[in-house]
Amino acid sequence: VIKEKHGSNYNIFELSIAENFKAMLTMERELRKALMEGQFELHYQPQKSLDSNKIVGVEALLRWKHPLKSYIPPDKFIGLAEKTGLIIDIGDWVLKEACRQNKTWQDKGFQPVIVSVNLSAKQFYQKGLVEKVEHILNETGLAPKYLELEITETMAMTNEENILETMHCLRKLGVFVSIDDFGTGYSSFKYLSVFPITKLKIDKMFINENREQNQAIVKSIIHMSHSLDMKVIAEGVETIEQLKFLTEEKCDEMQGFYFSKPLPPEKLTKLLQTVG
Ligand code: C2E
Ligand code: MG
Ligand code: MG
Ligand code: MG
Repeated sequence: VIKEKHGSNYNIFELSIAENFKAMLTMERELRKALMEGQFELHYQPQKSLDSNKIVGVEALLRWKHPLKSYIPPDKFIGLAEKTGLIIDIGDWVLKEACRQNKTWQDKGFQPVIVSVNLSAKQFYQKGLVEKVEHILNETGLAPKYLELEITETMAMTNEENILETMHCLRKLGVFVSIDDFGTGYSSFKYLSVFPITKLKIDKMFINENREQNQAIVKSIIHMSHSLDMKVIAEGVETIEQLKFLTEEKCDEMQGFYFSKPLPPEKLTKLLQTVG
């Protein structure tokens, strides 16, 4: 800690820490309240198969509808939720809501889709995660093959032995496990061959930053995924050129603004209705 004995710097420094802390406490209180009062929502972004041109999955993305501030994106509050441990309760809600919603769509007779749910590190490392997932599937009536859990490379690389065990149990249950933001994390090739991962999600940075090197990287990831018997999806597809490239390179699926932004459930229902 930097400390100055004299002058105003010291005070300003202390004050900003105190204020920061206060803001954090306020947000933590608001997050708890949000969970209790039902201010969280899930929006869903469709994932399209490049082969059949059909919607095969949807990613559930958390939104906080703050009573005073309208929608707050997850990047603004997930970090704090992680730090305070609140992410466990929020994550439970997300999992349950995503499964419930997906079952509802199936009950309406739509073509079944897989719902992907993002897990944070704390959630993935918690004891009893597999039992929890199993319980939620039983409770909502969703078949395990319609649920996918997304983790990041860095999460898979930390605490390797437990993670491997958790992944095997999830796979035994019938749930899919994908690696999100692939290519941006701390990772080694070893785990790709050892872990029972079912899909890689190529980070949007490689898709929509227009650099020649990125195309080479994307090609390699697609090729490697297929050699290792994994599916591969491109995130952040925004243009027709990107779509054409991915189709030529035999990428399995795509997700991005070019096809659709994340949508509130009612709008996704309409979309599923029109495509079958
Ligand atoms: P992510 O899992 O990588 O999700 C994809 C993000 O990219 C989403 O941002 C989505 O809106 C955005 N996106 C989709 N298509 C495009 C595109 O074509 N162009 C661009 N520029 N962006 C696109 P969002 O919804 O703000 O979520 C941000 C991150 O927050 C997620 O990244 C995920 O890591 C985290 N997150 C979201 N929901 C949850 C949740 O329920 N639990 C946890 N633990 N994390 C979540
Ligand atoms: Mg994700
Ligand atoms: Mg991602
Ligand atoms: Mg992410």
